[in-house]
Amino acid sequence: MSRKRVLVTGGAGFLGSHLCDRLIQAGADVICLDNFFTGCKSNVDHLLGNPRFELIRHDVVHPILLEVDQIYNLACPASPVHYQFNPVKTIKTSVMGAINMLGLAKRVRARILQASTSEVYGDPNVHPQPESYWGHVNPIGIRSCYDEGKRVAETLMMDYHRQNKVDIRIVRIFNTYGPRMAINDGRVVSNFIVQALRNQDITVYGEGSQTRSFCYVSDLIDGIFRLMNTDGITGPVNIGNPGEFTIRELAEVVIDLTGSRSQIVQRALPQDDPVQRQPNIAQARAVLGWEPKVTLREGLRSTIGYFEKALAAE
Ligand code: NAD
Ligand code: UDP
Repeated sequence: MSRKRVLVTGGAGFLGSHLCDRLIQAGADVICLDNFFTGCKSNVDHLLGNPRFELIRHDVVHPILLEVDQIYNLACPASPVHYQFNPVKTIKTSVMGAINMLGLAKRVRARILQASTSEVYGDPNVHPQPESYWGHVNPIGIRSCYDEGKRVAETLMMDYHRQNKVDIRIVRIFNTYGPRMAINDGRVVSNFIVQALRNQDITVYGEGSQTRSFCYVSDLIDGIFRLMNTDGITGPVNIGNPGEFTIRELAEVVIDLTGSRSQIVQRALPQDDPVQRQPNIAQARAVLGWEPKVTLREGLRSTIGYFEKALAAE
């Protein structure tokens, strides 16, 4: 078969840029599309001279026509700080972005993968969360623009599949971290590392007893690449690392690994902050032969190395 032409929306962001690397490595022609809201050119700088790589400034709320074989729809701010900055724009990005990318997939008969999220489970009362769990989501809170936007994107994927036979994949991504997260990203791993490296207070929201399960970026990219390239999977698939930690534990590990003089301080817990989160990855294991390999300490070490350089270059 001829070389695959692959579109990555949100390709200049944290996950998108690693995915572009993976696709180039696999021999694909890659079109990276981004509006640079939270992503930046420096994440894909090293690919710009490659004739198989193309960068387009475009906003997914507007339609675009491109000839491609596969579409990874990742465009959407992922950090609460950024998705709450302009909540109406966030939900437009998820909903209209999904409609535009599904319309494109339908027209050019491309396979499309939607980046969904563990947030579709909301503040879950089933633990760990299997894909069959419908979730516990506040439809009118400050996280709803993101959570409900992603839920609608999933609905659109399933309806385009049922109605128009579009070949779809849905990945429910659990908290993922690693190099190329922005210094001002605002999510917990980058915040704690940046605070620790600057010997500033580490801001634990609430008691820090809430849990998250942290997946290193290389594992995540491997999972979604496998999902896209495996036949016969239509429904959502969880990809994440089942290793579950309290936020206070995360703060302690970061202090330990950086040797920082930072103190842990408490800040107000944001509204609707989920109490617990851990993926059930039985399906990914069974159908993709996938499971994460990188431990939290290993992943944090390389992420700390990245932020040391990024802060020195500031
Ligand atoms: P990110 O903020 O680094 O990347 C998002 C990218 O999308 C950025 O480059 C941004 O500029 C771009 N973008 C935003 N709105 C756009 C628009 N309207 N048009 C075009 N581009 C737009 O975040 P990330 O962590 O890389 O997340 C990538 C995707 O994965 C998102 O869809 C996110 O919801 C999903 N996800 C990520 C995580 C995680 O832990 N990293 C967890 C669950 C889901
Ligand atoms: N959090 C924190 N301090 C920070 C940033 C986040 O304690 O500086 C907490 C946040 O309240 C949540 C967890 O860390 O309980 C994960 O937050 P993040 O924004 O990374 O992701 P999400 O809540 O979307 O899973």
